[in-house]
Amino acid sequence: MIIGKSLPRSPNFVRSRLLSLIQECETMREARQIQSHLITAGMSDDVFLASRLLFFCAVSDAGNLDYATLLFRRIGDPNLFLWNTMIRGHAIKRRSGEESNPTNAISLYKQLLAAGFLPDECTFPFVLKSCGKVLALETGRNVHGHIVKTGLLRCNAHVANALLSFYASCGDLERARKAFDEIPVPDVVSQNVMIGGYLRMGALDMAKQLFAGMSERNLVTWNTMITGFVQAGRGREALEFFHEMQRSARFDPDKITLASLISACSRLGALDQGKWIHNYMQKRGVPMDVVIETALVDMYAKCGCIKRSLEVFREMNYKDVLAWTAMINGLAVHGQGEEALDVFKQMLVEGKCKPNQVTFTGVLCACTHSGLVAEGRQYFQTMRSIYSIEPQPQHYACMVDLLGRAGLFGEAELLISNMPVEPDVFVWGALLGGCKMHGNLELGETVAQRLLSLEPLNHAFYVQLSNLYAKANRFEDAKKLRTTMKDKGIKKIPGCSLIEVDGLVHEFSVHVSHDPLMEEIKIVLEKVTRELKLAGYVPDVKEVLLEIDDNEKEQSLLQHSERLALAFGLMKTEAGSPIRIIKNLRICSDCHVAFKFISKIFKREVIVRDCKRFHHFEGGHCSCKDYW
Ligand code: ZN
Ligand code: ZN
Repeated sequence: MIIGKSLPRSPNFVRSRLLSLIQECETMREARQIQSHLITAGMSDDVFLASRLLFFCAVSDAGNLDYATLLFRRIGDPNLFLWNTMIRGHAIKRRSGEESNPTNAISLYKQLLAAGFLPDECTFPFVLKSCGKVLALETGRNVHGHIVKTGLLRCNAHVANALLSFYASCGDLERARKAFDEIPVPDVVSQNVMIGGYLRMGALDMAKQLFAGMSERNLVTWNTMITGFVQAGRGREALEFFHEMQRSARFDPDKITLASLISACSRLGALDQGKWIHNYMQKRGVPMDVVIETALVDMYAKCGCIKRSLEVFREMNYKDVLAWTAMINGLAVHGQGEEALDVFKQMLVEGKCKPNQVTFTGVLCACTHSGLVAEGRQYFQTMRSIYSIEPQPQHYACMVDLLGRAGLFGEAELLISNMPVEPDVFVWGALLGGCKMHGNLELGETVAQRLLSLEPLNHAFYVQLSNLYAKANRFEDAKKLRTTMKDKGIKKIPGCSLIEVDGLVHEFSVHVSHDPLMEEIKIVLEKVTRELKLAGYVPDVKEVLLEIDDNEKEQSLLQHSERLALAFGLMKTEAGSPIRIIKNLRICSDCHVAFKFISKIFKREVIVRDCKRFHHFEGGHCSCKDYW
């Protein structure tokens, strides 16, 4: 900054020099220097210069709100432009990371009114944005009233959209819709805001309806739809929107679209589509960052391709704690406990980031799925002693799971009794799982009763208790339990399995299946079952609760969603290629046995992701070594 001693004396020259300095100002350091020049030149009361400098400090990315406030207070009689600048400064989030301060923006708005100013089209959008952020519905409605008085609503799209957006972020869909309907010609921005509001409130079909009727769509429209549907767990439709967007060929997906889509593929286990998106990014040279790469690591792991997941992970230039954690978790659910712990150790050796709570959940989960009791104990200890992370219920649940599976019930119970918070259903559920595994009926009964008192309508706990009774040949008790379930009207969560064939995700469940191929699938299943029996497979009917005779129970096993999906996979994929299935519940023990046989007889690798972990069936064995 060249200014100072050599400055000529003419006030006009000084003023225009200072003005151009303000216009070129890029850092707060320069802004502070300019302010001291203003003072030494005796121009600190020049409202125009002060307001330009204030604008830089309050609104620009390099600005600083505290300093802006200081400048604002120095100005004796601020005009509307200055008030608006301050409100805007508090309402926005800066790229420098400085957070917005909506409460201050609202309070400035009230001061502005008290000072007798009439707010204008530059005031309203930012005060409404702030009201929406802190859900200040009452204040926002007052602002709505002020806007009506100014008559801006009908002629200013910014103001109308801001009002709509405010009601949508407060979850007041009725008022949002009213504001929307009052806009004479809603533009694509208004429609996007309305769609976003619907999606946030879970009114997905309303969003779809509005979307369908849009004559013009932009990238934000597509992103809003895709992201909204992914977040609502309706990934299949999200992918369909993406294909539609591709067909319309007017937009290329950006990073937001791609990240949402990768996450949809992870949930659905849609490996082919996930790979396609990865290829697309490579071909188009979409710049990678740690967020996208971590999403890919997670996607490949969740789609059963742990090798590819590791490759992406190893190629990453920069890894943050989320990236390490995604890799540890991925290996853990694939039962590669030792490898997961190796990655964890490597993270500690590199020392660039510290493990957090989620990392430890992954580490303990790795120990659990691989039965590494000593390691689990040690890591659980170090959480607190080395990393000062207080173990949470989910960490206790992992430990109880680990100890319960190893039959160390005394230690598990001691751990639970020492918990600083009340154990939740996951902790007790883990203990019940151990009891079932080791046929510990005595403890199992007590634990199950506890679970049922916590969640009296949870079907899974009844099933587990009933299995426990069946294992101990206490069929009378199992029967009683069934009656209780019927009386209480407890319904099973329907099992649902997904399989991707030729880039399309197909969904199977016991009762509802709209697949026209259902008859064909059933014929294949019967053929498969005949071959299984010849190979020595005996259906395990213990897990079937409600049926009467064994024959009927067997039929019921045949309709399990994972079986239907597998049969479909056998029909529709090339001989020898792996079959990947995602199930919403745990795979049942009978299907587990059957899939081992199938992997051997049909020489197919079968990869099942259930709600707990992965099972890789190959040559008659499962990667879980039946330890699940
Ligand atoms: Zn099954
Ligand atoms: Zn298994």
